[in-house]
Amino acid sequence: MSCILLLIPTTSYRTSDFVTAAYKLGVELIVASNERQTLEEIVPGHTLTLDFYNLDESVNKVVSFAKERLIDAVVSTDEDAVILAAMISEALGLPHNPIAATETTKYKDRLRTVLTRASIPTPMAHCFSTTDSLDETAQGVSYPCVLKPIHLSASRGVIRADTQEEFKIAFLRIIKILSDPEVKRLGKEAAKKILVESFIAGEEVALEGLLQNGKLTVLALFDKPDPLNGPFFEETIYVTPSRLSLMVQEKIAVCTEQACFAIGLTEGPVHAELRINGGPFVLEVAARSIGGICSRTLKFGLGVSLEEVIVRHALKMPIDSLQRQQAASGVMMIPIPHAGRLANIEGVDEASKVAGIEGVTIMIRRTQKVIPLPEGRRYLGFIFARGENPSDVEAALRKAHRALKFTIDEECS
Ligand code: ADP
Ligand code: CA
Ligand code: CA
Repeated sequence: MSCILLLIPTTSYRTSDFVTAAYKLGVELIVASNERQTLEEIVPGHTLTLDFYNLDESVNKVVSFAKERLIDAVVSTDEDAVILAAMISEALGLPHNPIAATETTKYKDRLRTVLTRASIPTPMAHCFSTTDSLDETAQGVSYPCVLKPIHLSASRGVIRADTQEEFKIAFLRIIKILSDPEVKRLGKEAAKKILVESFIAGEEVALEGLLQNGKLTVLALFDKPDPLNGPFFEETIYVTPSRLSLMVQEKIAVCTEQACFAIGLTEGPVHAELRINGGPFVLEVAARSIGGICSRTLKFGLGVSLEEVIVRHALKMPIDSLQRQQAASGVMMIPIPHAGRLANIEGVDEASKVAGIEGVTIMIRRTQKVIPLPEGRRYLGFIFARGENPSDVEAALRKAHRALKFTIDEECS
């Protein structure tokens, strides 16, 4: 029986989808997480605790573990442990993306440098230190621009500035985010830098793909029909198939494959974000699959999940089809409107009954604290829809969202 080691952060939404896929395939599963016990209930006797921040120690721990139980593949389900997965694979002699390539996807300044050198359209970027003079920095950049931490994800700390005044406020706001102990520990040197980029206007898409020996197969191209003009960039609706012309879609695919090649990525899932401004501009390439539980919008061939595709690919098991099922589908990540404590949620039944809606999943419990962007990193939940065409799906998601009512009590802090 083959054995796969999954690296799953305790904050992940995806554990059950990966566990289900592994069980279905009859493969042995070891789940490594960064906190003790949390996964013991789901896969008793098959867990391992690893400090995701302490890369060398974690590699050694897995290497000694692998003397008892042969591991055939290592997959990081989320962004957090992508570099660690490559390092463990290297130590165990398993095929994997080059470690340097995973590092390039993790650090936004490195990604920009690599893409720019390869002449792939991407925002112009300049990296500043958090200790640089605020006035000089604000004077030296062109507007509009986007400021961001280099090592965070989920749009955390990503802020648009149109004027020097806005720039200074945004810069200080990001410094505050970077002073969070957890963020510092995660970023080390990276937590002392702020990247400033040219703002690229235009429609945004997300490409979900699978690399096999450097060749990219597009699993799905999602439109993001809500305009993302800032100052913060919360993700909301994703709908596939894309309504862009086939010619533009083809350019997006070619551009993404070139970006993967320039970065050095060769195997496994990729999640890329691009904007269309004349042609495609690469905003981001991540060496992982789509975040949250958004993968539930996708089914391949005769109903295979994205997680099953990823596990099969990692273990070199045959994959019947990478063809997405015909119907249009979409997801809405429900944004947090303002900070506070979630007091009440109404309308879930009504939203679920909207034609085309497949499910409404609320991720935050009553009384829990909620933090919106740019400081926050979570969503209130997810709405899933399926339909004949993308506009039906988008309309269903909007209607379901309107039916939901979240009461958030503001807190005095
Ligand atoms: P994260 O890794 O946190 O997702 P990204 O760099 O992907 O950070 O930025 C998040 C979002 O912010 C993007 O999806 C996009 O909507 C917006 N954004 C980021 N950088 C730019 C830019 N240079 N021009 C226009 N929009 C941007
Ligand atoms: Ca990212
Ligand atoms: Ca992104």
